[in-house]
Amino acid sequence: MASRDPQFDFDFVVIGSGFGGSVSALRLVEKGYRVAVLEMGRRWAPLSFPQSGWAIQRWFWRPKLGLRGFFNMRFFRHATIFHGCAVGGGSITYAGTLLSPPDRVWEAGSWAGLADWKREMPPHYQTAARMLGVTQNKILGPADRLLQRTGEAAGSSQTFYHTQVGIFQAREGESPNQTVPDPFFGGEGPPRTTCTACGGCMMGCRYGAKNTLDLNYLYLAEERGAAVFPETRVVNVKPLASASDGSAGYEVSTVKSTAWVQAEPRKLTSRGVVFSASSLGTMELLFHLKENGSLPGISPRLGKHVRTNSESIIGARVPGCSEDLSQGIAIGSGIYIDEHTHIEAVRYPNGADLLSLLTTFLTDGRPGLRRIALWISNGMSSLLRHPIKTLRLICPWGWAREATILLCMQPLEGHIEMRWERPWFWPFRKMLVSRGDKVPTYIPKANQFARQFAQTSGGTAMSMLPEILFDIPGTAHCIGGCVIAGSRDRGVVDDRHRVFGYRNMYICDGSVLAANLGVNPSLTITALAERAMSFIPRARETDWNDLARAA
Ligand SMILES: Cc1cc2nc3c(=O)[nH]c(=O)nc-3n(C[C@H](O)[C@H](O)[C@H](O)COP(=O)(O)OP(=O)(O)OC[C@H]3O[C@@H](n4cnc5c(N)ncnc54)[C@H](O)[C@@H]3O)c2cc1C
Ligand code: SF4
Repeated sequence: MASRDPQFDFDFVVIGSGFGGSVSALRLVEKGYRVAVLEMGRRWAPLSFPQSGWAIQRWFWRPKLGLRGFFNMRFFRHATIFHGCAVGGGSITYAGTLLSPPDRVWEAGSWAGLADWKREMPPHYQTAARMLGVTQNKILGPADRLLQRTGEAAGSSQTFYHTQVGIFQAREGESPNQTVPDPFFGGEGPPRTTCTACGGCMMGCRYGAKNTLDLNYLYLAEERGAAVFPETRVVNVKPLASASDGSAGYEVSTVKSTAWVQAEPRKLTSRGVVFSASSLGTMELLFHLKENGSLPGISPRLGKHVRTNSESIIGARVPGCSEDLSQGIAIGSGIYIDEHTHIEAVRYPNGADLLSLLTTFLTDGRPGLRRIALWISNGMSSLLRHPIKTLRLICPWGWAREATILLCMQPLEGHIEMRWERPWFWPFRKMLVSRGDKVPTYIPKANQFARQFAQTSGGTAMSMLPEILFDIPGTAHCIGGCVIAGSRDRGVVDDRHRVFGYRNMYICDGSVLAANLGVNPSLTITALAERAMSFIPRARETDWNDLARAA
């Protein structure tokens, strides 16, 4: 491993170990750089994941409240955003669905025309798919079969498909839960166990069957010498010496993210920096650094064009269901109910009933007081007409076994903005706040499909409580905010992910995505990071002078 400049602690510091960060770490270390990965979350082993959804201290991430899990929920005026926080980033809590978006996404948004995306991206998608072990889901659970039957009733059965997933499954005829030596990287990776279809992917795979980043990209990066620092939160990045464009390197300051009192501040120096803290994490950090004077030259477009993938979360619950709807993999199948509307069947494992507190009866209509009134009157009349059925519907116990979540996504244009302001409810410090037009929480076709699903399953259609009460959609796919663009006036990075205005500084995560994909974004984030890293020269060839260029 060649060290370019021993006066620095590392050649590159990568902030965050999710999809963009893990790809960056592996490819940089392969090119001969000394790499540090600084990750705010904890490192997890399969058997340390929570067994029950009520073990919130090992599921949710709010270290100041004593919650040291790997899943976080952030509440904004325009969206409730779910995201992961662990060594391996969102892959630890994600469902493992890895889909390519339609070609038309490259023609929308600020990245359009900056590269020949449709020609350049396929090889990077192939590499990403190989590294993440993408394969077709072979395990259809009861919820997937219900989705298929609903599709038949709705006239869209021809679009039903088994998801492409990063999950290690047994070969036909072989029994699940078998541990074998590394099946993916010619013996260089860790041993793996085949999937048991327990539905627990989003609460952490206790079997080691889900292809999380700590078992592929990040594992290999560490094997090749990358140093991963868990529970290490980056709080400052500033150019060294008087070279304000970072040409003399950077000083990166960290604190211990899980510390109660002793924050254990540390400083590292590096020639280059890769921000990979996710869309929310990178925006939050860059806003702070722009404001505190460390990186004042970050584009004023920071926080613009944040997208929620135009999602709506609906579903159905079948009290007393004869089958266990939690069986299968977390997202086993999908269907297109029209050209723009894509629905996936999602589940949590048996016992993960806490999330039931976020679901309620499906209620149509435009958002606002009228819809709330309708929701109350529907609930009351249901309680009066079918008291036992209604109580079973709202009872949290048994929810995961009896419920299917339907995740609806649309690749339609629509975005919000994140700003760095003092909110009215907490004027003591600045934080991310959302602004802009409301993101629609009501997709009539999706509601109609949820009703059909409920009819097919003999259950009751559901939607998310925050969507009804506060008109706030939930999303696990927050993207954008530091989008790829042709100049500093239009975005934060160029088409090679180089930050405008700084040398040897890159962003590789969901924040650079410049269009709603209409499918789950992780494969695209991985493929884009592969492409970005392919432009960085080998360590022995670099002149440490990489700078974004306006198109
Ligand atoms: C429940 C759930 C299910 C999902 N299912 C799917 C799915 O099936 N398919 C799919 O494609 N996508 C899915 N997603 C979305 C997916 O997880 C994200 O799109 C993806 O992880 C984003 O990748 P990223 O590289 O942008 O950052 P992330 O993977 O989010 O990683 C960023 C990392 O940076 C760390 N970080 C943040 N700030 C700092 C800091 N200041 N210092 C140090 N570290 C920091 C975070 O702790 C985090 O680990 C799901 C998400 C959730 C929450
Ligand atoms: S279904 Fe269960 S065993 Fe299979 S990948 Fe998901 S959590 Fe792991």
